[in-house]
Order: sequence, then structure tokens, then C-alpha cells
Amino acid sequence: MATLDADLIARKLGYAASGDLILHLPLRYQDETRLTPLRDVRMGVDVLVEGVVLHAEVQMQPRRQLLVEIAESAAPGSAHLYFRLLHFYPSQISQLQPGVRVRLFGEVKPGFFGAEMVHPQLRVVRDNTPLVATLTPIYPAVAAFSQNAIRKAVEIALRQADLSETLPQKLLDSLQLPGFAEALNALHHPQPDADLNALETQATPAWQRIKFDELLAQQLSLRLAAQQRQKLHAVALNHAQELEQRLLAALPFALTRAQTRALAEIHRDLAKPHPMNRLLQGDVGSGKTLVAALTLLPALAAGGQVAVMAPTEILAEQLYLKMHEWLVPLGMQVAWIAAATKGKTKKEALARIASGEINVAVGTHALFQTGVSFANLTLTVVDEQHRFGVGQRLALREKGGFTDANHMPHLLMMSATPIPRSLAMSYYADLDVSVIDELPPGRTPINTKVMSLKRRDEVIGRLRDYCLSGAQAYWVCPLVEESEKLQLRAAEESHAELVDLLPELNIGLVHGRMKGEEKAAAMAAFKAGELNLLVATTVIEVGVDVPNAALMVIEHAERYGLAQLHQLRGRVGRGARESTCLLLYGDALSDSGRQRLRVIKENSDGFAIAREDLKLRGPGEFMGARQSGQQILRFANLETDLDLLEAARNTAEHLLARQPEVANRHLARWLPRGLDYLRA
Ligand code: ADP
Ligand code: MG
Repeated sequence: MATLDADLIARKLGYAASGDLILHLPLRYQDETRLTPLRDVRMGVDVLVEGVVLHAEVQMQPRRQLLVEIAESAAPGSAHLYFRLLHFYPSQISQLQPGVRVRLFGEVKPGFFGAEMVHPQLRVVRDNTPLVATLTPIYPAVAAFSQNAIRKAVEIALRQADLSETLPQKLLDSLQLPGFAEALNALHHPQPDADLNALETQATPAWQRIKFDELLAQQLSLRLAAQQRQKLHAVALNHAQELEQRLLAALPFALTRAQTRALAEIHRDLAKPHPMNRLLQGDVGSGKTLVAALTLLPALAAGGQVAVMAPTEILAEQLYLKMHEWLVPLGMQVAWIAAATKGKTKKEALARIASGEINVAVGTHALFQTGVSFANLTLTVVDEQHRFGVGQRLALREKGGFTDANHMPHLLMMSATPIPRSLAMSYYADLDVSVIDELPPGRTPINTKVMSLKRRDEVIGRLRDYCLSGAQAYWVCPLVEESEKLQLRAAEESHAELVDLLPELNIGLVHGRMKGEEKAAAMAAFKAGELNLLVATTVIEVGVDVPNAALMVIEHAERYGLAQLHQLRGRVGRGARESTCLLLYGDALSDSGRQRLRVIKENSDGFAIAREDLKLRGPGEFMGARQSGQQILRFANLETDLDLLEAARNTAEHLLARQPEVANRHLARWLPRGLDYLRA
């Protein structure tokens, strides 16, 4: 096969070049190294057999097929076997003449005439055609190419690519890992006695080596990115004692120990002349917003500007209200740029940000991507996001008003979705993490109940009494993932029905298709207590804070993911009132749906729920749910390969400190196109 074809196949399989095919690793193998005599075949087992055709005929019943009978030899009484071809060419009918020798690979099943194979892999052979010496790899394939074509392309890659060792033998010995070329050979061409089960579950030393290499490359690249960050400049900020005391004095409560600790970690970062890159993790309701406000103070005291971003309008407005409440009394100018702000008002607001008159600008991400520029952006706070990619940071820097190209604002990200340890260790190696692991005192635990939607009427009846007693409630509509339009309809239907059934109550509605100001008006009315009940879609999922709301009903809760349910439920249990969350499930409750509801009912701690989530779904999906769906790792599995991850982490540290040339060599193989691995 020409190299050109190998390149084409590589590209179709999603690689940049044919050389990458060395790491196109088999899914499984088939054993064509030995022939099983026809008399020894066992039912239900894949085998390679050989025989001579006795008889072949096209049958029309029950469907068109070519039925062929073969025998061990022409001698009378020798064992025989049937096979059927469901798709065949006319040439095959003439080819399969009596006496022709064929080799078949496939599963033997009991058939109408005895043992048979349905649509085996078939090859016409001469007497004594040699067998292959190693197991035959079955590769992940794309429709256009046969296994044979892919195998050939991989062979070309293995012959032409550089398989030289990147790692010192001493290191490999200490980790008990095979050499790179040896590992590839063991994966592409396993010996006949290889442990197929171990190969397929990726548990052999060869697999360990490949996974280790991948993890090591990832660790190296993340560490290099962190080192790069150390070369960037940021304004070193001092603790703003006076402003902080004034803000805290105005609060009706004191900081929790966990908030104080997180803040101290943040202050240490801010005091350095390099940009902070810190994630503040804390369960829903743990009080991250206040920590964010306190984080702004050193920047504001130094005369710098701050951008505060949230993923949705509702959240941005909530943040704005808090920042306004806490910072305006300190003499700060706080601006909210809503999507609906248009024309002259918007122009003026943007001009005041650009001139530096505004100290704190709050808005959605989308908003900051267009039109906003700052006089001296010193700090950025991003709510409800635990991955703010290099690209996004660079884009923000452009707007920061810096003359020094190496200048970068400090960055604080906040998220209630806890990152499991393995992910934090691996994917966030260049990120510092603070955790608020304690809720403010006085919270009453949320009572979570799971019940059938058949009891919906009863629930609505109780809702009436509940709201008439002065408490407020959320009604979360069923999730409709297929289309926003249907989601909207579901929300409007639920709203109309509840308005109809509960005429005594004031019932509002918020959903994703509403205009920003409509949403804001509904939220404000709910917050002010003018509405008893708020019918909502997941737009209320994050950040919404109405302490008087203490009951939440989630219709078709089984359709939601765990993280979503936990976030939704976190909207109640924010005040002193005892809170309840009712999870209503529909008839078509799947096993996994049932499991999710059980996890939510039994756990209130977001970290525990995230762990369960990881167990139920695996880390790829865990990330995918909230992130761009980008693949984390090709070979290593963060759940099962934690030991390798630890080893890779230690090795990366060691290599960068002592043997940078080894680190470079390894990165050149695994990330030949540079650090773009990191951008997302
Ligand atoms: P989240 O971490 O989910 O963003 P919020 O910042 O919205 O949580 O805080 C939830 C509620 O707790 C808010 O009403 C906030 O004012 C309140 N809160 C924050 N810190 C404390 C504290 N130390 N003591 C009591 N209440 C607090
Ligand atoms: Mg929040």
C-alpha cells in the first residue's frame, strides 16, 4: 500500500498524519495462529478452521444465502461443518467449487444441520498455507476502510515512524514498565499465549506503558503552562484591611472558618506579582459570593478595575445585586451591563468602564466578549465555571488596557461542582484550588423525598397550604432536551395548569427563552415575596438565592443529571425555615434514573454526589456535562489509573527539575504540535 493511502486512512480515523497510527491501538484480537480441527470445534467459541468444500448452493429460504458444507478432508466420515454467507458475490459461487480449500474464522453455533458458522471471515487457501505467528489485531475502524486496509496502514506507520525510547531505562525499571517499541509491538502483535482478557481490559504492562506516557505528557505540559504563567506579570495587591473591616461590619453574620481560610489563600496569591489562577470550590450555598466580594477589595483599594462574569443573565444580575449591596457603601461604582441595555445607555456605561470610572463591571461572558474594554483590569472573577481556558484568558487580557504584553489580570473562578481528586490532580495541574467545605451555620438540612408523579395532585394540594402559610416554593418543569421550543412549551403548560389549579396563589414563570428584563422582573418579584410560587426551567439551576423559598418540586426528576439535581435542590435550604425537595418521577423510570434519585435522596454533600456521579458515568462524561465535551485522555482512565497518574505526576516534577531534555523528548512525541492540548 502506498504511503499516501496510509495518510488518507490516518486522516479518516481522525489523526493528523500516518505516523500517528502507531498509537491507533487495537480494540481486541483474534487468534488466527492455530487451526482448530473441525472435530474439536466447540459451540460459542471463535475459531480458525480449515476444510475442503463438499457442496455449495444458493438457498432462497428463509432468505437468500449461500450455504456451504466443508469437511476436514475428502476422506469419508471426516468431520464436517456448514457455513452460510448472507452477502456474497456471484464470483464466490463459482469460486467455492467442491475440493477448494477454505479457511474460516468465526463463531461456531448449533445450526439446522449441526455445527455451523454464519458469515465467517473467509479465505480460499492452498494446502499448507502458513499461519500467522501473532494474534490478529482488530482496530477501531471507520466505515470506508476494511480491517485489512487499516492493518496495513498501521504496519507502514510502525515501520516508518520513530519508535525510539523517550524515557531513561532506570525510570522504566523502577516503574516496571516495558520500553516504548516493545510495548507497541506487544499491543499490535501480541504473542499467541498473551492474556487476551488482560489485553482487552488494558491491564497488561504494555498498556500501562502507553497510559503512563500519555499521563506524563499531560503532566509535563500542564506544569510547563504553569511555569509560563509565572513569567507573566500582574499587579501585586495588598490586603485591604480597612475596606474589608467596613464590609464585614455591615454584615449580619461573621465569615465561616472555611471562608476565612479560602480568603487567606486568595490574599497570598494576590500579593504576588504574577497572575493568580485559583478555583474556589464550595458546595451550593457555602457563601462563595461573599468571598468573591472580599477578593475584589485589594484590587479596588489599589485603584484597579474588576470584571465579574457569570454564565447567565439571571446569575449575573444576582451577582450584581450582591456586589452593589456590599461595595457601593464603600464608595465603589458598580455597573451591570444587561444584554437588554441598548443604545445610549449602553454606550455611556461602556464609556465609563473604558475611562476607569466604573470600579466593578458585572455581566455575562457573552457580554464581555463584545465591546467591553477596561482602563486597568486588575482582577477577573468568573462564577460557576471551573475551566477558563487559555484562549479566554488571552482574550480578556486584550481588553485589560495594558501596555505590557506580559501582563495578565488575576483570575478567580468559582464553582459548586466539585472536581474529583483525580481530575483535579490531572487536568488542573496548573490551577490552585481553595475549598469551602462548610456551610454557614443555621442551615436546616433539606428533606428530600422521592415520589411518583401519580401523586402530583396531592402535591399540588399541599403546595397550596404551604404557600398560604407564607413560605415560597419553586416548581421545576420537566426537562426536554430535544428542543428549546418544546422546553418552553413544557414550562408554559406547567405554569398555566398551576395557575388554573391554584387561583389563590401568585404564580410566576421564568424560562430560558424569556427576555433578560422579563426574567429579571419575575425573579425580583419572587425575591420580594410578591410571588408565592415560581415555575421555572433550569435557568434557576445555579446561583439563585431566595432564602424564603423552602420548597422545591421537580417534575420528572429522573430526567435530570445528578449535578443538575444537586444544583437545583441547592436553591432551597438557604434560610432558617425547614426545607423540602420533592422529586417526582414518571412511569418510565430506568435503572440509572432510579439510582440517580437514590443518590440525591441519600446525599446532601456535593462532593459525595460528585463521587457517585463519577462512578455512574465515568470522568469523560462528568466533564462533558459542563464543559465543551472535549476528550480528556485517549488511553488512561482517571478512575482506574490513579496510581499511574501519581507516578506520572512525580516523574514530571523530577524530569522538569533534573532532566529537561528528557521532558522535551517525551513531549515531542506526545504533543508534537505543541501545547495546544491545553487550550479549550
Ligand atoms: P454559593 O456558594 O452557592 O454561591 P451564596 O454566595 O449565594 O452561595 O451564599 C448563600 C447564602 O449564604 C447567601 O444568602 C449569603 O448571603 C449567605 N452567607 C454567606 N456567607 C455566610 C456566612 N458566613 N454566614 C451566614 N450566611 C452566609
Ligand atoms: Mg453562587
